[in-house]
Amino acid sequence: MTLLELENVTVAYGRIEALHGISLTVNEGEVVALIGANGAGKTTTMRAISGTRSLSEGKITFNGEDISKLRADLRVVRGLCQSPEGRQIFPGMTVMENLDMGAYTRRDSAGIAADLDRVLTLFPRLAERRKQAGGTLSGGEQQMLAVGRALMSRPKLLLLDEPSMGLAPLVIRQIFDIITEINQQGTTILLVEQNAQQALSRAHRGYVLETGRIVKEGSGQDLLHDPSVKEAYLGVA
Ligand code: ATP
Repeated sequence: MTLLELENVTVAYGRIEALHGISLTVNEGEVVALIGANGAGKTTTMRAISGTRSLSEGKITFNGEDISKLRADLRVVRGLCQSPEGRQIFPGMTVMENLDMGAYTRRDSAGIAADLDRVLTLFPRLAERRKQAGGTLSGGEQQMLAVGRALMSRPKLLLLDEPSMGLAPLVIRQIFDIITEINQQGTTILLVEQNAQQALSRAHRGYVLETGRIVKEGSGQDLLHDPSVKEAYLGVA
Protein backbone atom coordinates (compact mmCIF):
# COMPACT_ATOMS: atom_id res chain seq x y z
CA MET A 1 0.00 0.00 0.00
CA THR A 2 1.22 3.50 -0.82
CA LEU A 3 1.85 5.43 2.40
CA LEU A 4 3.27 8.66 0.97
CA GLU A 5 2.91 10.09 -2.50
CA LEU A 6 4.34 13.30 -3.90
CA GLU A 7 2.86 14.36 -7.22
CA ASN A 8 4.48 17.11 -9.19
CA VAL A 9 5.65 18.95 -6.07
CA THR A 10 7.10 22.38 -6.70
CA VAL A 11 8.65 24.50 -3.95
CA ALA A 12 10.14 27.97 -4.29
CA TYR A 13 12.10 30.26 -2.00
CA GLY A 14 10.89 33.64 -3.14
CA ARG A 15 11.58 33.70 -6.85
CA ILE A 16 14.02 30.79 -6.74
CA GLU A 17 12.38 27.46 -7.52
CA ALA A 18 14.19 24.70 -5.59
CA LEU A 19 11.97 21.77 -6.61
CA HIS A 20 10.62 21.66 -10.15
CA GLY A 21 7.71 19.23 -9.87
CA ILE A 22 8.98 16.06 -8.25
CA SER A 23 6.98 12.85 -7.88
CA LEU A 24 7.83 9.93 -5.64
CA THR A 25 6.13 7.25 -3.57
CA VAL A 26 6.92 5.42 -0.37
CA ASN A 27 5.10 2.14 0.25
CA GLU A 28 4.28 0.79 3.67
CA GLY A 29 7.19 -1.17 5.12
CA GLU A 30 9.85 0.25 2.84
CA VAL A 31 13.10 2.10 3.39
CA VAL A 32 13.36 4.61 0.55
CA ALA A 33 16.50 6.67 -0.01
CA LEU A 34 16.62 10.06 -1.68
CA ILE A 35 20.16 10.86 -2.73
CA GLY A 36 21.69 13.89 -4.38
CA ALA A 37 24.54 16.36 -4.22
CA ASN A 38 24.70 19.53 -2.12
CA GLY A 39 21.92 21.89 -3.06
CA ALA A 40 19.98 19.29 -5.10
CA GLY A 41 16.85 19.94 -3.02
CA LYS A 42 16.87 17.05 -0.55
CA THR A 43 16.24 19.18 2.53
CA THR A 44 13.59 21.16 0.66
CA THR A 45 11.81 17.89 -0.18
CA MET A 46 11.80 16.96 3.50
CA ARG A 47 10.45 20.39 4.43
CA ALA A 48 7.64 20.01 1.91
CA ILE A 49 6.73 16.62 3.36
CA SER A 50 6.92 17.70 7.01
CA GLY A 51 4.98 20.88 6.25
CA THR A 52 7.56 23.49 7.19
CA ARG A 53 7.59 24.76 3.59
CA SER A 54 4.48 25.19 1.50
CA LEU A 55 4.05 23.95 -2.06
CA SER A 56 3.62 26.31 -4.97
CA GLU A 57 2.27 23.41 -7.03
CA GLY A 58 1.54 19.73 -6.68
CA LYS A 59 0.07 17.44 -4.08
CA ILE A 60 1.20 15.32 -1.13
CA THR A 61 -0.92 12.38 0.00
CA PHE A 62 -0.22 10.57 3.25
CA ASN A 63 -2.08 7.46 4.31
CA GLY A 64 -4.82 8.25 1.80
CA GLU A 65 -5.30 11.86 2.92
CA ASP A 66 -4.34 14.98 0.97
CA ILE A 67 -1.99 16.74 3.43
CA SER A 68 -0.71 19.37 1.00
CA LYS A 69 -2.12 22.18 3.11
CA LEU A 70 -2.15 20.52 6.52
CA ARG A 71 -0.23 22.25 9.35
CA ALA A 72 3.12 20.69 10.28
CA ASP A 73 2.09 19.81 13.85
CA LEU A 74 -1.02 18.03 12.58
CA ARG A 75 1.12 15.98 10.20
CA VAL A 76 3.02 14.72 13.26
CA VAL A 77 -0.29 13.71 14.83
CA ARG A 78 -1.14 11.80 11.60
CA GLY A 79 2.08 9.78 12.02
CA LEU A 80 4.61 11.68 9.95
CA CYS A 81 7.67 12.52 11.95
CA GLN A 82 10.97 14.04 10.95
CA SER A 83 14.31 13.65 12.66
CA PRO A 84 15.92 16.83 11.38
CA GLU A 85 19.28 17.51 9.81
CA GLY A 86 21.79 18.97 12.25
CA ARG A 87 20.07 16.93 14.95
CA GLN A 88 18.40 19.81 16.83
CA ILE A 89 17.95 18.07 20.13
CA PHE A 90 17.28 20.22 23.21
CA PRO A 91 20.82 20.71 24.59
CA GLY A 92 19.81 21.87 28.08
CA MET A 93 17.40 19.00 28.66
CA THR A 94 18.41 15.52 29.74
CA VAL A 95 18.29 12.54 27.43
CA MET A 96 15.07 11.36 29.11
CA GLU A 97 13.45 14.80 28.85
CA ASN A 98 14.35 14.94 25.17
CA LEU A 99 12.75 11.54 24.62
CA ASP A 100 9.63 12.59 26.54
CA MET A 101 9.31 15.62 24.25
CA GLY A 102 9.03 13.24 21.32
CA ALA A 103 5.82 11.84 22.79
CA TYR A 104 4.18 15.22 23.38
CA THR A 105 1.30 14.58 20.99
CA ARG A 106 0.39 11.29 22.67
CA ARG A 107 -1.80 10.45 25.66
CA ASP A 108 -1.46 6.64 25.78
CA SER A 109 0.90 6.32 28.74
CA ALA A 110 1.24 2.53 28.46
CA GLY A 111 2.21 2.85 24.80
CA ILE A 112 4.64 5.67 25.59
CA ALA A 113 6.32 3.55 28.30
CA ALA A 114 6.62 0.62 25.87
CA ASP A 115 8.17 2.84 23.20
CA LEU A 116 10.60 4.32 25.70
CA ASP A 117 11.73 0.79 26.57
CA ARG A 118 12.12 0.02 22.91
CA VAL A 119 14.18 3.18 22.23
CA LEU A 120 16.46 2.56 25.21
CA THR A 121 16.95 -1.04 24.05
CA LEU A 122 17.75 0.09 20.51
CA PHE A 123 20.18 2.70 21.87
CA PRO A 124 21.94 1.36 24.96
CA ARG A 125 24.22 4.42 24.90
CA LEU A 126 21.20 6.62 25.54
CA ALA A 127 20.10 4.38 28.42
CA GLU A 128 23.53 4.79 30.02
CA ARG A 129 23.33 8.56 29.63
CA ARG A 130 19.66 9.07 30.41
CA LYS A 131 20.29 11.77 33.04
CA GLN A 132 22.94 13.62 31.04
CA ALA A 133 22.19 16.91 29.26
CA GLY A 134 21.66 16.40 25.53
CA GLY A 135 24.20 19.08 24.67
CA THR A 136 27.02 17.12 26.34
CA LEU A 137 26.56 14.04 24.13
CA SER A 138 28.90 13.20 21.26
CA GLY A 139 27.75 13.86 17.70
CA GLY A 140 26.79 10.23 17.17
CA GLU A 141 24.90 10.08 20.44
CA GLN A 142 23.01 13.29 19.61
CA GLN A 143 22.03 11.74 16.30
CA MET A 144 20.81 8.64 18.14
CA LEU A 145 18.85 10.89 20.50
CA ALA A 146 17.25 12.73 17.58
CA VAL A 147 16.19 9.43 16.00
CA GLY A 148 15.03 8.10 19.38
CA ARG A 149 13.00 11.23 20.00
CA ALA A 150 11.34 10.91 16.60
CA LEU A 151 10.48 7.27 17.34
CA MET A 152 8.74 8.37 20.55
CA SER A 153 5.96 9.87 18.44
CA ARG A 154 5.40 6.31 17.09
CA PRO A 155 5.47 7.48 13.48
CA LYS A 156 3.95 5.59 10.58
CA LEU A 157 6.62 7.22 8.48
CA LEU A 158 9.97 8.33 9.83
CA LEU A 159 11.74 11.01 7.83
CA LEU A 160 15.49 11.06 8.35
CA ASP A 161 17.49 13.99 7.05
CA GLU A 162 21.18 13.13 6.64
CA PRO A 163 21.51 10.78 9.61
CA SER A 164 25.18 10.18 8.78
CA MET A 165 26.16 13.84 8.62
CA GLY A 166 29.38 14.66 10.45
CA LEU A 167 29.82 11.18 11.91
CA ALA A 168 32.78 8.80 11.82
CA PRO A 169 32.47 5.72 9.57
CA LEU A 170 32.01 3.28 12.45
CA VAL A 171 29.24 5.39 13.98
CA ILE A 172 27.60 5.76 10.56
CA ARG A 173 27.42 1.97 10.28
CA GLN A 174 25.90 1.75 13.76
CA ILE A 175 23.28 4.37 12.91
CA PHE A 176 22.38 2.54 9.69
CA ASP A 177 22.20 -0.78 11.55
CA ILE A 178 19.67 0.81 13.89
CA ILE A 179 17.74 2.30 10.95
CA THR A 180 17.49 -1.18 9.44
CA GLU A 181 16.32 -2.57 12.77
CA ILE A 182 13.69 0.15 13.22
CA ASN A 183 12.37 -0.70 9.76
CA GLN A 184 12.32 -4.42 10.54
CA GLN A 185 10.24 -3.60 13.60
CA GLY A 186 7.61 -2.12 11.29
CA THR A 187 8.37 1.58 10.71
CA THR A 188 8.45 2.89 7.14
CA ILE A 189 11.43 5.18 6.48
CA LEU A 190 12.26 7.89 3.98
CA LEU A 191 15.90 8.77 4.19
CA VAL A 192 17.72 11.71 2.68
CA GLU A 193 21.46 11.16 2.36
CA GLN A 194 24.67 12.35 0.81
CA ASN A 195 26.22 9.04 1.88
CA ALA A 196 24.80 7.24 -1.14
CA GLN A 197 26.72 4.02 -0.52
CA GLN A 198 25.21 3.35 2.90
CA ALA A 199 21.78 4.71 2.02
CA LEU A 200 21.35 2.68 -1.19
CA SER A 201 22.75 -0.49 0.29
CA ARG A 202 20.15 -0.30 3.07
CA ALA A 203 17.18 0.94 1.03
CA HIS A 204 14.57 -1.09 -0.80
CA ARG A 205 14.27 1.67 -3.39
CA GLY A 206 15.91 4.96 -4.13
CA TYR A 207 15.52 8.21 -6.06
CA VAL A 208 18.28 10.45 -7.38
CA LEU A 209 17.62 14.18 -7.15
CA GLU A 210 19.56 16.64 -9.30
CA THR A 211 18.94 20.39 -9.20
CA GLY A 212 15.34 20.00 -8.11
CA ARG A 213 14.38 17.11 -10.40
CA ILE A 214 14.20 13.35 -9.94
CA VAL A 215 16.53 12.01 -12.64
CA LYS A 216 16.58 8.34 -11.73
CA GLU A 217 14.77 5.78 -9.63
CA GLY A 218 15.17 2.09 -8.95
CA SER A 219 15.84 -0.55 -6.37
CA GLY A 220 18.66 0.25 -3.94
CA GLN A 221 20.78 -2.49 -5.52
CA ASP A 222 20.13 -1.35 -9.10
CA LEU A 223 21.10 2.21 -8.26
CA LEU A 224 24.23 1.03 -6.41
CA HIS A 225 25.34 -0.71 -9.60
CA ASP A 226 24.22 1.98 -12.03
CA PRO A 227 27.30 3.40 -13.82
CA SER A 228 26.16 7.04 -13.73
CA VAL A 229 25.20 6.81 -10.05
CA LYS A 230 28.55 5.18 -9.31
CA GLU A 231 30.40 7.93 -11.06
CA ALA A 232 28.47 10.85 -9.59
CA TYR A 233 27.71 9.64 -6.06
CA LEU A 234 29.88 6.69 -5.16
CA GLY A 235 33.27 8.03 -6.19
CA VAL A 236 33.84 5.19 -8.66
CA ALA A 237 34.59 5.96 -12.31
P1 ATP B 1 22.36 20.16 1.30
O1 ATP B 1 22.75 18.74 1.32
O2 ATP B 1 23.49 21.11 1.07
O3 ATP B 1 21.45 20.57 2.44
P2 ATP B 1 20.02 19.86 -0.33
O4 ATP B 1 20.03 18.85 -1.41
O5 ATP B 1 19.35 19.51 0.93
O6 ATP B 1 21.50 20.31 -0.04
P3 ATP B 1 18.37 22.19 -0.33
O7 ATP B 1 18.89 22.66 0.99
O8 ATP B 1 17.04 21.62 -0.39
O9 ATP B 1 19.41 21.17 -0.97
O10 ATP B 1 18.50 23.40 -1.36
C1 ATP B 1 17.96 23.36 -2.68
C2 ATP B 1 18.10 24.73 -3.32
O11 ATP B 1 17.29 25.69 -2.64
C3 ATP B 1 19.52 25.29 -3.27
O12 ATP B 1 19.77 25.93 -4.49
C4 ATP B 1 19.49 26.25 -2.12
O13 ATP B 1 20.42 27.29 -2.35
C5 ATP B 1 18.07 26.78 -2.16
N1 ATP B 1 17.61 27.13 -0.79
C6 ATP B 1 17.51 26.29 0.27
N2 ATP B 1 17.02 26.91 1.35
C7 ATP B 1 16.81 28.20 0.97
C8 ATP B 1 16.29 29.37 1.63
N3 ATP B 1 15.89 29.34 2.89
N4 ATP B 1 16.23 30.51 0.89
C9 ATP B 1 16.62 30.54 -0.41
N5 ATP B 1 17.09 29.48 -1.07
C10 ATP B 1 17.17 28.33 -0.41
